Amino acid sequence: MKLDGKVALVTGGSRGIGAATAVRLAQEGADVAITYVRGAALAADVVDKIKATGRRAIAIAADSADAEAVRAAVAATVAEFGRLDVLVNNAGVGWVAPVAETALADLDRVLAVNVRGAFLVAQAAAEHLGEGGRVVTIGSCVTDRVPGAGMVLYAMTKSAMVGLTKALARELAPRGVTVNLVHPGPTDTDMNPADGPFAEDQRSLTAAGRYGTAEEVADAVAYLAGPASAYITAATLSVDGGHAA
Ligand code: NDP
Repeated sequence: MKLDGKVALVTGGSRGIGAATAVRLAQEGADVAITYVRGAALAADVVDKIKATGRRAIAIAADSADAEAVRAAVAATVAEFGRLDVLVNNAGVGWVAPVAETALADLDRVLAVNVRGAFLVAQAAAEHLGEGGRVVTIGSCVTDRVPGAGMVLYAMTKSAMVGLTKALARELAPRGVTVNLVHPGPTDTDMNPADGPFAEDQRSLTAAGRYGTAEEVADAVAYLAGPASAYITAATLSVDGGHAA
């Protein structure tokens, strides 16, 4: 299998894209640690699914907004499995509201998880990544095309992932580590359910005319996490059904 002997950490792995990715990486042979905040029972289910593939798994309660918790999660992964090869920087929160209705506390909270947290996780993980290592961050299609009003804060945080990815790719390339970005389009999860109030508009903005699944995003992450993508770094892979077309 492509990830035999590898160890992956997926932030926000209790639900949605992170959960699908954690299971997918295990199917490729990796042992996997996931983080979560509220969903302990769901995280335990994901651990069970991973163990059913024959791989090892742990779930770690770690709020990406909490620097100490993030560092402890990376340390716990390495302590449990002895190494770290793949970081999937997935944890994120949504936010839809006009600028005028975005309070300072909202700004700080969304920045803390989506930007500061993504940086902190990458910083802590990078210490352990060596030859063949991988960082895959989950951005968003709104970085390429903002579909409507109310997206300023969220789009701003996801656009920051472009800078994180390109600049970190330069820093880690000499160590044989690639750093890439996946831009999901509308993907059927709790954050953006395919039967939600904005779903029809989002569906109509894709060329494919449909929502994607978490598993479809996970497939792209698995490719970027694997050996076949060794010459791909600082790149963005859109899994958006043509949302940016
Ligand atoms: P979900 O809301 O379905 O799942 C979010 C996951 O992240 C959960 O496991 C949740 O854990 C965890 N999480 C939330 N806040 C934190 C935090 N502060 N620290 C650590 N973990 C946290 O989201 P999706 O799966 O839809 O989204 C995953 C990523 O994909 C996000 O970065 C999102 O912005 C991005 N994305 C999603 C799109 C979509 O249409 N769904 C489109 C484009 C990008 P818990 O339940 O325990 O809190």
